[in-house]
Amino acid sequence: MRRLFISGNWKMNKGRQEACDLIDGIIKGMGDYPHVDIVVCPPFTFLDEAARKTRDIKMSVGAQNVFYRESGAYTGEISPLMLKSTGCKYVIAGHSERRQYFKETDAEINKKISLSLEHGLVPIFCIGETLEERNKGNTFEVLNGQIIYGLEGIDNLNVQKIVIAYEPVWAIGTGVSATSEQAEEAHRFIRNTVEKFSSKEVSESIRIIYGGSVNTGSARVLLKQENIDGALIGGASLKAEPFCEIIRIAESISS
Ligand code: PEP
Repeated sequence: MRRLFISGNWKMNKGRQEACDLIDGIIKGMGDYPHVDIVVCPPFTFLDEAARKTRDIKMSVGAQNVFYRESGAYTGEISPLMLKSTGCKYVIAGHSERRQYFKETDAEINKKISLSLEHGLVPIFCIGETLEERNKGNTFEVLNGQIIYGLEGIDNLNVQKIVIAYEPVWAIGTGVSATSEQAEEAHRFIRNTVEKFSSKEVSESIRIIYGGSVNTGSARVLLKQENIDGALIGGASLKAEPFCEIIRIAESISS
């Protein structure tokens, strides 16, 4: 049985005070959710504070990006070791905004995933097709390529630790979520691809979460799908109440 995984991606939002208020609000709104893994991914500048505030509760902190070297002359970058030292446990790799605006390639994302795993960070590995790719009927081909290149050279033991986030680019921040059928179809395809790439055991245990305009209205039907193991949430994670409500929905489904 795969544990549901709910993660907020704050992107480049929230000043220090707002970030403190949001994390305090989430902590206050949190009940006892024994069946759900909860992660928040604030900007780098708030990672250590978020990790400190959540140290004694069942919520973890993730970063939104990482570089694929341990240290050196890479001005402006941040290494997995630095992230670890903040108390961070997860890191988003390959978000479509990084692929689109910063031209991140599958090969770079693969190096980020590898080095993160080497240093004990769990990658939240994002994949997904653009609207153009979907309209041309290329969705599965795109997903297949992103998985094969993104996970190249990573052994089964490590693949199993990764959380894959299926995030159709056309659904991110648009208010138009994939339907539960579209998402389930993509997740099933991803699980089958992971099986071909690794093993049945790995594909059955790996968590594949959905991201793209998830909100309190769409969460239940999405999370009920057989192959959807959680959600990566942007907009709806920027306020404590909707984020906590989605966690409550996840808990009610899994308990
Ligand atoms: C995201 O940024 O990963 C995301 C899914 O954003 P939103 O929920 O706002 O679509």
